[in-house]
This record gives sequence, structure tokens and C-alpha cells, in this order.
Amino acid sequence: MDVAIVGGGPIGLALGRSLADRGFSVVVLEEHVAVGKPVQCAGLVSERAFSLSGLSTGSVVHEVSEARVVSPGGVEIRLGPSKKKMYVIDRHLFDREMAENFVRSGGVLGVGSRVVGFSSRGAAPSHSVEMEHLSAISGRMGRYSARVVVGADGVFSVVRKRFFRNSRRHILGAVEVEGFCEHDDTVAIVLGRGVAPGFFLWKIPSGERRARIGLAFSPPRPGPLDRPYFSYGRTAFENLVEFIRKGSETLGIWGFQPAQLISGAIPVTPPLPSTAGNVLLVGDAAGHVKATSGGGIVMGLRGAIHAARAIEDFLDGRGPLEKYDDLWMGDIGRELLVDYVLHRTFFCASDAEVDHMMELFGSENNLSVLNRLGDVDYPSRLIVPLLVRNPWLLRLLPRFMKNLFEAKRR
Ligand SMILES: Cc1cc2nc3c(=O)[nH]c(=O)nc-3n(C[C@H](O)[C@H](O)[C@H](O)COP(=O)(O)OP(=O)(O)OC[C@H]3O[C@@H](n4cnc5c(N)ncnc54)[C@H](O)[C@@H]3O)c2cc1C
Repeated sequence: MDVAIVGGGPIGLALGRSLADRGFSVVVLEEHVAVGKPVQCAGLVSERAFSLSGLSTGSVVHEVSEARVVSPGGVEIRLGPSKKKMYVIDRHLFDREMAENFVRSGGVLGVGSRVVGFSSRGAAPSHSVEMEHLSAISGRMGRYSARVVVGADGVFSVVRKRFFRNSRRHILGAVEVEGFCEHDDTVAIVLGRGVAPGFFLWKIPSGERRARIGLAFSPPRPGPLDRPYFSYGRTAFENLVEFIRKGSETLGIWGFQPAQLISGAIPVTPPLPSTAGNVLLVGDAAGHVKATSGGGIVMGLRGAIHAARAIEDFLDGRGPLEKYDDLWMGDIGRELLVDYVLHRTFFCASDAEVDHMMELFGSENNLSVLNRLGDVDYPSRLIVPLLVRNPWLLRLLPRFMKNLFEAKRR
């Protein structure tokens, strides 16, 4: 094989398709027997998720154009209605269409194949990597040898662990319940240390009478999600259920009947090199996730476009694979770095500071900036316009600079 991709999530499959379209032999190995399952995503994306992937909008289950942000002390700001709609997708359908396109382009998709080991063969520059995989269907071990190996295997990437030295990252825990309810058709974001320490709680309408309600949080140390991280010794799920019970007005939902639970993890990391020899990382495995929102689909797809170009040049003998790092850092590196620093600065602020910021942002002048310039994929574009209008925010500048300095040192 020219390229072997570990992980059949949306980013691995998107990359696989672009490489197969360029005429390379590509295999994607996915440990689950069906792509896109189990779902570990709230599924809120901008239009870019479709323009970058070339997918149809067949996976869209709902569209939203308004959002509310609620501070710990109950200060609320309302954003929109915006002409730039956000789309709520069924991730299983989204990933399945990716897989169909990949196979139609000539790629080989091995489902139920968990990659468990690697070994290198030959010497650079023509060496290859051999991968061992265990089939959940036959119970047998198999092997693939490839000139380039891609880790598209998500937040707990085995490829990252095996080939990259700096593989320690901060990881947010996340839980979500989807259910039937009446709702006000807005996305709601609820902030506060008691609700979702280190991140936020969300409500996303996913149909006329359906909504997804979840929270992500920053555990003080790594560990399972059922540990009692929250106040009163509650687990994340218990905290979420309690908030849904008591906070239905805040969330804008009524008569919630849970139907499906999911849990997952979100990597939060400053941009780090993602190429080692003839191995590279994309998507969550590379940390291409906005640390301000936890969204990884659009940034991952952008990274995959650069990976395809660098792999093509490398396999055709036109340049080193490391070119990938220059390409993606030049495109999304600055945004990912600023988002990481904003995450460290904003989500570590006290509840009183967050209340004050929300009061500021709720002024007419600030709301018009947020509505005009706000872009869910590029939140950094708001920093300067908001700083200029709100000198109080300069108080956070020393923390911002300290976090920026630490991120650059990693
Ligand atoms: C609760 C939650 C809500 C989220 N909400 C949003 C959202 O609203 N919008 C958004 O843009 N993003 C969201 N995200 C992030 C988004 O889901 C990820 O960024 C996206 O799925 C990354 O795609 P990926 O292909 O890199 O990785 P993944 O989707 O994680 O795919 C990796 C694949 O690799 C497979 N794999 C792992 N190890 C192996 C192995 N050894 N061998 C073979 N296969 C393996 C896995 O089974 C998996 O299918 C959310 C994440 C969570 C946890």
C-alpha cells in the first residue's frame, strides 16, 4: 500500500478519499465494525464542514441561527439571528457518506480491524511501516505494509503514542444526553465552575422536538468519567442530569425525556509537530481541535487537505513529508494556538470575572461586534475588536501572555 490510515473517523476517511482520488493505493483500518458508531459528538458544524469535505447535506437533522450564552450568575447574552446558519448533523450518517465516497474512489476500508502494533522496514527514505491489526470479525491477526502511515485514530491515538515523543496532552471529559422535549430553538451555552468546571454545558436543538444536552469538563487529573469530580461528590452524568432537572428555563427546554447517552473526550493542546519520519497525524490525533468550543471537524478537514498535498509530494519524490507541518501550521496553527490560550485564560477565570465579561459583552456596541464578526471556526478574530472596546479585558492580558508563553515553550 502507498498509505495506511489508522482510524475510520471523518478525518481519516476524508484524507483517504483525497489520496485515492489522486491515484494512490490507500487502506483505512477502523476498529469498530461500522463507521460513525458509537457516536461521540454533539454534531454542531458550520457550512465549512460540507464545503471542505464535499459531502451532501443529507446528514443534517436541524438548522439553528440563534444562540444564548448564560454566565454563572445568570447574566445572559443573545446572539443572532444570523444569516450564517449552524447545522446539526447525525454523525453516523455524516461518517457513513464519507466512507461511501472513500470506497467509491477506490480506497480499501477494513472495518472491525484494530491496529495493535507497528514495525519499521528498510532504511529512509524508502523505508515502510508494517502494521499489525486484529480482526474483530475473524479473530485473526493481519498485516499491512505502507510507505506512509497516518494516525487518524482520535484522541487516544496509538500512532501518536508509538511514534511521537511529546504525546502527553490535556484531555477534557464530555458527556451528553439526547432526548425528546419542547425547546426554544436556540443553542444555549451555560458557563460556571459548578456546572462544567474548565469548559461549558450546551443545549443543541437536534430536531423540532429533540435536543442534545451535554457538558465537557476539565478533570483535575486523568481518570475515568465516573469519578466524582463535581461538587457534592457527583459524577459528570449526575451533574448533567441534575442541571437538566433544575435548569430547564435556563436551557430553554421543557418536558425532557432522555433517549440516548454518549460520552467522549476532547483533546486540548497547543499546535505541536505532527510528522515523524514517514508517519503523520491528522484530526483529533494531531490535536486539530478548537480549544474554545471543542469542535474538531472543520479544523481536522483543513488539516487533512494539507496532509493529502504533503503525502502526494512525498510519494512522488517532490519533497519531505515534514512539509505537512509547515502547511497546516501556516493555515490553522495561529487559530489553534490562540484558541488554546483563550481556553486557558477564559475557562480558568473566576465565576465573578465571567459574570463581569458577560455584562460587558451584553452592551449594544459589543453585541453588534459579536454578531458582525463572530465566526465559530475563527473565534480569534474577535479578540482585537473586543479589546479595543473593553479596556477592562486588558486585566486578563498578563494571564493571556503567560499562557501564550507556556504554550509556545511546549
Ligand atoms: C461529546 C463531544 C461532542 C463534540 N461535539 C462536536 C461538535 O459539535 N462539532 C465538532 O466539530 N466537533 C465536535 N466534537 C469533536 C469531534 O467529534 C472530533 O473532533 C472528530 O470526531 C474528530 O475526527 P477524527 O476522525 O480525527 O477522530 P474520531 O472521530 O475520533 O475517529 C477516530 C477513529 O479511529 C478509530 N480507532 C482508534 N484507535 C484505533 C486503532 N488502534 N485501530 C483502528 N481504529 C482505531 C476509532 O474507532 C474512531 O472511529 C465533539 C467531541 C465530543 C467528545
